Amino acid sequence: MKIDVLTIFPEYFDSIFEFGIIRRAKLAEIVEINVHDIREFATDKHKMVDDRPFGGGDGMVLKPEPLFAAIEHLTGASDRKDYREDLRVVLLTPQGRQFNQQAAADFAAEAEHMVLICGRYEGVDERVSERLVTDELSIGDYVLSGGEPAASVVVDAMVRLLPGALGSETSAENDSFSDGLLDCPQYTRPAEFRGMKVPEVLLNGHHAEIDKWRRKMAFEKTKKVREDLLMGENGERE
Ligand code: SAM
Repeated sequence: MKIDVLTIFPEYFDSIFEFGIIRRAKLAEIVEINVHDIREFATDKHKMVDDRPFGGGDGMVLKPEPLFAAIEHLTGASDRKDYREDLRVVLLTPQGRQFNQQAAADFAAEAEHMVLICGRYEGVDERVSERLVTDELSIGDYVLSGGEPAASVVVDAMVRLLPGALGSETSAENDSFSDGLLDCPQYTRPAEFRGMKVPEVLLNGHHAEIDKWRRKMAFEKTKKVREDLLMGENGERE
C-alpha cells in the first residue's frame, strides 16, 4: 500500500512513522509512506497556502489551488470520478464520518493508494471536498488544531491490519473491536506482585479453559465500559 500525506507541517511526521510496527512494515515494503509539504505546490511567489474566509470570520482557510495541484500530481486525476478503484483521497476533519476499527479494516483491504489531507486553521476550502475527496474522516468528537495527529492515527490503525505487518508473533484477531468486544485483561510475570495474583486459570496451561475465561472477561469488560458495542442495529442487546 502507498500512503501520501499532505500537510503544511511535514516536520510533524519526522519520527512518527519510525517506530515499531509501522517502521517494520515500511522496511518490509508492506507500506510506503511519503509526506509532502503542501507549500511546495503553491504557485504564487509567496508560496501562500491559506487565505481569509469569504464572508468574514476568524482564522484562515487552506486554499484550493495548492491542494488541487498536489492531488493531481499524486493521483494523475483532477476529478475523483477518474480515480482508480483502489485510490482513496481522505480529508481529516471533525465533520467527517467517525473512523473506527471497521473503517481501518476496510481501507486496509480495499485501498492500494491513499492520500491523506491534513487541514489547519479553520479548515480546507470546500471545493477540495467537492471535486477530489472520496472520504471525510473524523477521529472523534473533539477539535484538534490540525489534521496531522488524526492522519497518524489513521495510518497506524490501518497499517497494522495490512497482511504481514504484525509478523507471526502477534495478530489483530483478538484485539479490541475486531470481534465486537474489547480485549480481555492481560498479565505477565511475576505471577504475584504486591499481593496481587494472576488468575489461576492462566497458569494451568489448559487452553480451552483459558479461551473460555478470556472470552468471559472480554464480555464483562465490554458490558461494563462499552455496552453500546453489545447492541445490535435496532438498539437491543445481541
Ligand atoms: N473549523 C473546523 C470545524 O469546526 O469543523 C475545525 C478546524 S480544526 C481547528 C483544523 C483542522 O484539524 C481540520 O481542518 C482537520 O484537518 C483537523 N481536525 C480537527 N479535529 C479533527 C478530528 N476530530 N478528526 C480529524 N481531523 C480533525
